[in-house]
Amino acid sequence: MHYIETHAHLYNNEFDHDRDQVIHRAIANNVTKIYMPNIDSHSIEPMLRCEEKYPDICVPMIGLHPSYVDENYVSELEIMEKWLQKRKFVAIGEVGIDLYHDKTYYKQQEIAFEAQCNWALNYSLPLIIHSRSAFYETVKIIKKFPANTLTGVFHCFSGSLQDAEVAIELGFDLGIGGTVTYKNSGLKEILTHISLEHLVLETDCPYLSPVPHRGKRNEPSYLSNIAAQIAQIKDIGIDEIAKITSINAKRLFKTTR
Ligand SMILES: [Zn+2]
Repeated sequence: MHYIETHAHLYNNEFDHDRDQVIHRAIANNVTKIYMPNIDSHSIEPMLRCEEKYPDICVPMIGLHPSYVDENYVSELEIMEKWLQKRKFVAIGEVGIDLYHDKTYYKQQEIAFEAQCNWALNYSLPLIIHSRSAFYETVKIIKKFPANTLTGVFHCFSGSLQDAEVAIELGFDLGIGGTVTYKNSGLKEILTHISLEHLVLETDCPYLSPVPHRGKRNEPSYLSNIAAQIAQIKDIGIDEIAKITSINAKRLFKTTR
């Protein structure tokens, strides 16, 4: 039995003092791969250092996070695109639209997201989508592309059942993290209606720790808490959750291991 962590900001400075132990705990808890989404030009170097130090487990992606789109977004995108031409990345992420905190750069977020969807298309890479208070704004951009040419995941999915069905219909998976363990999470009810074949596991660490670690720093070894909750919702064994979500993650990232 093993887990694949599809979304971890393991390069963040929250892990600088004990990253080795965090990785060892992840391995001890059957996590075999940790996919790292990029944020902006500043996170690239620490992310690649992580990959260099833990090449068998840590895998980088490239993209500009929507909350980091500002008046400098064109030069930020140029930096990302140069990296994309220079070396291999397994996905474009995390990218999308976030209107939760700030709508100031909505127009620029749309342009940046569409540009990065084009990279996904041209390099045949999946999209790791961050969409917050902007589900249909995000879908609107995806629908500008021919049907089923883009794939990926709606990371930290937090929408309605209808949103989930729209995402799946578009050919995307749902990234399920710690919020599914929260007492009043509507996600529990939604997941009873969604087939396991569309789900991948993520922590989004250091944020959004699952119960019983809620409020503390999150880390990849807590994937088992998330899997246990999904196993309970689906009324099947946790090993089955690990197996199916790992198959899904390998399909998502087009890899065999
Ligand atoms: Zn993230």
